[in-house]
Amino acid sequence: MTTPTVRGASLKYGRTMAAIPGPSIVPDRVLAAFSLPMPDLYEGPLVDESNEVRERLPGIARTEGEAFIITGNGHAGWQMATSNTLAAGDKVLVAEAGRFATIWGIYTAVSDIDVEVLEGTDRDPVDPDRLETRLREDPAHEIKAVLIAHVDTASSVRNDILAVRRAIDDANHPALLMVDCIASMGCEEFLMDEWGVDIALAGCQKGLMVPPGISFVWASEKASAAHKRADRKVGYFDWEARRDHSNMYSYYAGTPPIAHIRGLREAINIIEEEGGLDAVWARHERLADAVKAAVAAWSTPGGIDFNILSEAHRSNCVTTVRTGAVDPAALRSLCEKQAGLILGLGIAGIEGFRLAHMGHLNPPMILGAIGTIEAGLHAMGVPPANSGVAAAAASIGAAI
Ligand SMILES: *Cc1c(COP(=O)(O)O)cnc(C)c1O
Repeated sequence: MTTPTVRGASLKYGRTMAAIPGPSIVPDRVLAAFSLPMPDLYEGPLVDESNEVRERLPGIARTEGEAFIITGNGHAGWQMATSNTLAAGDKVLVAEAGRFATIWGIYTAVSDIDVEVLEGTDRDPVDPDRLETRLREDPAHEIKAVLIAHVDTASSVRNDILAVRRAIDDANHPALLMVDCIASMGCEEFLMDEWGVDIALAGCQKGLMVPPGISFVWASEKASAAHKRADRKVGYFDWEARRDHSNMYSYYAGTPPIAHIRGLREAINIIEEEGGLDAVWARHERLADAVKAAVAAWSTPGGIDFNILSEAHRSNCVTTVRTGAVDPAALRSLCEKQAGLILGLGIAGIEGFRLAHMGHLNPPMILGAIGTIEAGLHAMGVPPANSGVAAAAASIGAAI
């Protein structure tokens, strides 16, 4: 492999595009909301804005359940989910596929929770049949929760959450289904109540288009019931205190993340103006189709290829691309330093790059990103045999 080098003329001046899977591109209106002066905490417009956001939040996950806002990143959401529902000695089953559910398990194990990993791969989704088989081997119901990522941001796999729910039901198992939607929320169809999800969680910095800093946990009635026997509660994360909606200071367990609340309110407005989540999901699917068309065009045996083997499980918010003999560090460096495109690093040992297509994106942005990657391949002397740009443009052309 060659080491990354800076070569030729840099054309990066202009607006840099970060096509990394979080933080995603923040709309100007959301950024503007961040620049407003600080208001009073206890009365006035902020209280109304906060209540409005809180009331609109369940709709984002398509649930009638409760929503909690945490001043913290997605990891804080993981902690809130498990600390409110589990007791010491409980077992959880991590349904592994890629990396993130496994890391969630590692964080959970610290709280005296027994964590078992149903091993998966970096290239496939969770297999619902294997999950069902494992749950059938637990007649005493020692497993209290199944932890899974909707979209795993390392591998870019999308798991079939409804199939996972059916597997749990078919095994007649009472485990809570806890879903990490940090990458997928606001990008991929997600129907919490209809799919029987007990806890969903998300961060604000991916599909929801807000700078990182807050996260969300949605809890079903069954999850709220589990809260009663849970003994891993931590004051700051405890749902009980955060149920007091009369007092913002309690709801946020301290000073509210004011700029984030305002930014999120604006982001939800933007989603609604587009036609609601159904329209947003459809746009993500179409833009993802263009990315997938490009990667398919670039693909060669042993060369550039999709990381996820099954077409049906490639996510609509991020695509992990294996680069074969092409040095991904050199390609990323060229794209960033010479052309102003920041690509996601391949993580979890996957040799390649990640192209995010989540949030505030449209065809010129996505076609620009694809074209820049293709230009990088030309610059490295390894032009693709088939043009990904042409394939992506044809895909967008068929969609608009
Ligand atoms: C980004 C991401 C995380 C981590 O979120 P943080 O805000 O960095 O804690 C966890 N899970 C998934 C699926 C993610 O995409």
